[in-house]
Amino acid sequence: MPKTFFDTLRSIVQEVNQAPDLRTALEITVTRVHERLGADAVSVYFWDEDHRELVLMATRGLPAESVGRVRLRPGQSLVGLVLERAEPVNLENAADHPRYQHIPEAGEEPFHAFLGVPIIQHGRVVGVLVVRQYATRRFDREEETFVLTLASQLAGAVLQAAAGGGVNDQRAPDRPRTRSLRGVPGAPGLALGRAFVAITPTALESVPDHPVDAAVAEAEIGRFRHAVTVVVEEMRALSQRLQARLSERDRALFDAYLLMLSDEGLVEETVRRIRAGNWAPGAWRETILAHVHAFEAMEDPYLRERAADIRDLGQRVLASLLEEEGEISLPEGPLILVGEEVMASQLAEIPADQLVGVVSARGSAASHLAILAHALGIPAVMGVEELPVARLEGRRLAIDGYQGRVYVDPADAVLEEFERLLREERELESTLAELGQLPSETPDGHSVPLYVNTGLLADITPSLRSGAEGIGLYRTEIPFLIRSGFPTEEEQVDIYRQVLEAFAPRPVVIRTLDVGGDKPLPYFPIEEENPFLGWRGIRLMLDHPELFLVQLRAILRANGGLGNAKIMLPMVKDPGELRAARRLLHQAWQELREEGHRVPLPELGVMVEVPSLVYLLERIVPDVAFLSIGTNDLTQYLLAVDRNNRHVAELFDGFHPAVLAALERILETARSAGRPVSVCGELAGDPMAALLLLGLGVSSLSMNAGSVPRVKWVVRSFTRDEARAIARRALQAEDGAGVRAVLTEALEARGLGGLVRAGK
Ligand code: PEP
Ligand code: MG
Repeated sequence: MPKTFFDTLRSIVQEVNQAPDLRTALEITVTRVHERLGADAVSVYFWDEDHRELVLMATRGLPAESVGRVRLRPGQSLVGLVLERAEPVNLENAADHPRYQHIPEAGEEPFHAFLGVPIIQHGRVVGVLVVRQYATRRFDREEETFVLTLASQLAGAVLQAAAGGGVNDQRAPDRPRTRSLRGVPGAPGLALGRAFVAITPTALESVPDHPVDAAVAEAEIGRFRHAVTVVVEEMRALSQRLQARLSERDRALFDAYLLMLSDEGLVEETVRRIRAGNWAPGAWRETILAHVHAFEAMEDPYLRERAADIRDLGQRVLASLLEEEGEISLPEGPLILVGEEVMASQLAEIPADQLVGVVSARGSAASHLAILAHALGIPAVMGVEELPVARLEGRRLAIDGYQGRVYVDPADAVLEEFERLLREERELESTLAELGQLPSETPDGHSVPLYVNTGLLADITPSLRSGAEGIGLYRTEIPFLIRSGFPTEEEQVDIYRQVLEAFAPRPVVIRTLDVGGDKPLPYFPIEEENPFLGWRGIRLMLDHPELFLVQLRAILRANGGLGNAKIMLPMVKDPGELRAARRLLHQAWQELREEGHRVPLPELGVMVEVPSLVYLLERIVPDVAFLSIGTNDLTQYLLAVDRNNRHVAELFDGFHPAVLAALERILETARSAGRPVSVCGELAGDPMAALLLLGLGVSSLSMNAGSVPRVKWVVRSFTRDEARAIARRALQAEDGAGVRAVLTEALEARGLGGLVRAGK
């Protein structure tokens, strides 16, 4: 039976996915399309942003020497037309088209039929795939669909191969250049260092290659064989335990796994790869993925399914391998932690004095990883979709956390520029340090206290040193997350007491447990389709009063004799939830009094982060002492953009006019009711946003300790009236970019531009 278009598509994409570099990825593309369509020429052009040209990258049918030489301006030629229109161009006879241009070195003359389709990623045309034929004919619908679908699936794979290497030599041998990978800003700052890849134990693709010498290779082989034995034993035990409950068919799966591991095939193949100079996890990844891809490309649907089994087996051995310490030691010098999905806990794997930056393929500025990086004062770039994680270990990286850019193996010119900017950054830091203990007030004497967001006891000293006037958001889930079970009331009293004492008499806003969403507790698993719309924050606590009451009692007890605690409720969506929570707070207080504790009842406030509350605010303000806007979740829910989803990371925009309209409404409602409003989402620590929020009339701002001096500089540089006028202009902008332009211009005009871009 002839292969269907769909089958061919799938196997081409599989092959390209496995390609070790860009050259191979493109060769596979043009060769396979050439074979499948019986076309006379197939070519791929890439858009070179630096030179603003389309470059011929690979071809089958055009003269081989034109690769890298043929460079087209966008307004030139039919290929340029595909780029401009971002849609397919299908012509019977190319020469009849007014945009046809004869380019001698392209060797195009003999062709008539022309089909060009754009290669698009994130709405941007990054290249063009062109199929040509001698005959004068129109490519039919099926052919057009085939090429279009292939191009749409290839973009990611091809760009990843490009980022992994080869792009510099392949694209323009005569013009050395450094390609930057686009992500989104996670935490501000610049960094230079070597990549250190964080492995996600559940994702084979995240395992990097790591060169080893012969001596280490032997140790790695021993480690690998041991990991295999452990898994074999586990499988045997599991199969035995489940014997009575499993059907024969299901048991066959275990037998198949055992067979795969006892058969020397997978094991010996991996040992060979280790001997060839890769460490055990990297060699295992190569072996397993090669088999997975081979099975996935099979036509028989039953055999295709086996790919998932091999992957599962691969993951089990990987996990066992990672549990044992290998002989691979941490490289020296500054390191940038890189990964498919870097976990906040992995930051701790690198000594603080070596960790200079973070890059994650997933996530956005509002992910907890970015928040933590920000708190630690290290730049982070998030949502870098094209990140070729497996090929980055040990490579030199330059990252720009302001713009969200990553440069792999930067050219000398880029390095020099980074070094200059880093020097300027250090100068800026010393200017900021001088602001230290000065009050956060506008030149016309209006005080806007700055508080810190924290959740780590380790953060107390930097928070105190930052010159903050208290804690505006104490995330209690953090001490819960780093334990293996719910902390007892006594343990909680202990933790909260340390924070309250360290800051007394300055206020500490303790937020009640906000788990769920992207912060599940390891010991309280919740299975949900849509965790961000699910059981999180106050909802979970109201359904588990036994947990909530323990926490409330602990806060009240820790506050005894100090009186600087305030309590804040996360994720409140309506007055009913506030009432229910207040009832429990009173119950806890009453119980303590009955037990003889003479403790004050702290002020109660709510976070405004669920959009429904924005519309019910009038009903809630009389009953709360304060409000704090959680712009991370508010933005996510208002714009319907998951704060951790890399596909929409660029859409996550706290400056979106809808977010600003909500902020304006909240601030206005609270002002009429005489209630103070703080902002404790990431926006508060952004100097641009701080200027805007100042103009909109916030009472205070709460941010990571590292942002306090920057924001203080903004507060001390603009009078309230000036800020108000700037905010009015920003509110009129059409989109987030327009809002940023107004705010950046205002900061630059005051000499504060260094706060929002690299340099002074
Ligand atoms: C927010 O949502 O803006 C916020 C401050 O809370 P978290 O980031 O912890 O959800
Ligand atoms: Mg939140």
